[in-house]
Parts: sequence; structure tokens; C-alpha cells
Amino acid sequence: MRLEGKIAVVTGGNSGIGEGIVKALAAEGAAVVIDYVAKPEDAADLVKDITAAGGKALGVDADVSTADGIQKLIDSAVATFGRLDIYVNNAGIETRHSLLELEEDEYEKVLSVNLKSAVFGTQRAAKRFLEQGSGGVVVNISSVHEDWPMPGNLAYCVSKGGMRMLTRTAGVELGPQGIRVVNVAPGAVATPINDATMKDDAKRQKLENAIPLRHVADPGEIGDAVVFVASDAGRYMTATTVFVDGGIMQGSVGL
Ligand code: NAD
Repeated sequence: MRLEGKIAVVTGGNSGIGEGIVKALAAEGAAVVIDYVAKPEDAADLVKDITAAGGKALGVDADVSTADGIQKLIDSAVATFGRLDIYVNNAGIETRHSLLELEEDEYEKVLSVNLKSAVFGTQRAAKRFLEQGSGGVVVNISSVHEDWPMPGNLAYCVSKGGMRMLTRTAGVELGPQGIRVVNVAPGAVATPINDATMKDDAKRQKLENAIPLRHVADPGEIGDAVVFVASDAGRYMTATTVFVDGGIMQGSVGL
């Protein structure tokens, strides 16, 4: 197992891509802290399943849009498992409004949940790694929209573009201390955030026709990429983005 003995935190870990990441990390032997703000029963079910399979997991109710919530999450991980090795900034929301429609409170909410959480999550995880003195890995779940405009989803694109430069800047700052920071950027993934498209057969078909690999990703396909990045296999990767998008950014003719 590639992550035996490692302690990992996944924000928004009880749904969609976060759940896929939690399962993939646990399958490789990591003890996983599952952060959530809604549906505690889903976090509890995941903890039960991982524990029943012989793994270790803990659910923590923490709002990562505040630095205090993030600190509570990291402190809980350390109190239970003794250390922190991998921190995954996955929590995210979108509101799908254009620049002209965007309201100030909506902008602040999206930026707090998606980008501020990643900035202070990276900071607090890095401080913990430095205290421990043996390095660590931050994985930021951005999106193809860190690089690719999505008209009608302005705040989301701004937040993901911000994650792009967070990862590059923090990765350069922290590299000499043995701390890696990497973005994993999914394309279209079948999760609740995408319900409107996933539950409409015509829309889903149109989307899948535009993806060179011809399917919307399963959350586990993103989880596998996170395992690679977070494990020793990814040891020379930092301050960069791994796109896990079925080729959609290069081959989206028809969208
Ligand atoms: P999702 O809605 O299933 O999961 C989002 C999770 O974030 C939920 O568990 C939610 O409760 C949690 N969350 C929201 N606000 C929070 C807060 N303040 N504190 C802690 N947790 C909070 O959606 P998803 O598709 O699994 O999205 C996960 C990440 O992947 C997001 O960052 C999203 O932008 C990114 N992403 C998704 C897709 C896709 O197609 N689904 C594509 C690219 C990137």
C-alpha cells in the first residue's frame, strides 16, 4: 500500500469527488480525516465502511471557509492520529452567474469556500508540517476552469484561477522545506455539484460527446490521481497542475 502510516485530511470529504478521494486514500492505507459541513450521516457511513475494512477514519464537522474552522480540523486530525502528512483542499461550491449577474455576497461566499479555504488550508497544513519537520503534501482540487473560461460561472472561475497561482507561489515558497503543493484539476465528474447536467440525458450525452475519452469521470478516477500525487510516486511534482479531464480541454469541439 502506497500510503501506509500516512495521515490525510480531505475537506468536503463526505460527497462527490471528496468521497472518491477519501476512499482512494484509505484503500492505500492512509488514516483519513473526513471534513464536512452538511450530511453528517454520509461522513459517519464512510467512517464505518473504512473502519470495517480495517482502516482508520474520523469525521470532523468544520467550516473551512474560516481559518478557525481549518485550524479546528487540523487540530482534530493531530489529536486523534498524532500527525499530518497530506492535506487535500477539495471543498467547493458554484453559483453559475455571469459577471453582469454576480452579487457581492455571492462572490464573497464562492471565494471564501473555494479559495480562502485553500489559502489558509495550505498555510495551516504547512505550519504543521514545519513543526513536525518531515515535509508534507498539499493537494488542491482546482478544475479545468483554473485555466479555461466558463462564461456564466464567473466567481467559480476566479476562485479556481486563484488556486492556480496559490499552488505555484506556495509550491515555490515551501519547496526548500520539503513541502509539495500540487493542483489536481478535474474536468467533468459525476457528482451532486453537476446534478443539472447529470440528470438530463440530452445534456449529459452532449457533454460526453465532447470528451475525447467519451465519459464523465467517476470520483474514483480523481481519487486515483490524488493518491499518485500524494504518494512517493509524485515526489518530484510541485508548484504545478495535473489535469485529469479525459482530454476535454484539448478536444472540446461540440460543447
Ligand atoms: P460536491 O457538491 O459533491 O462536494 C462539495 C463538498 O464541499 C460537499 O461535501 C460540501 O458539503 C463541501 N463544502 C461546501 N462548503 C463547505 C465549507 N464551507 N466547509 C467544508 N466543506 C464545505 O461537489 P464535487 O463535484 O465533489 O466538488 C468537489 C471539488 O471538486 C470542488 O472544489 C469542485 O469545484 C471541484 N471540481 C468538481 C468538478 C465536477 O465536475 N464535479 C470538476 C472540477 C472541479
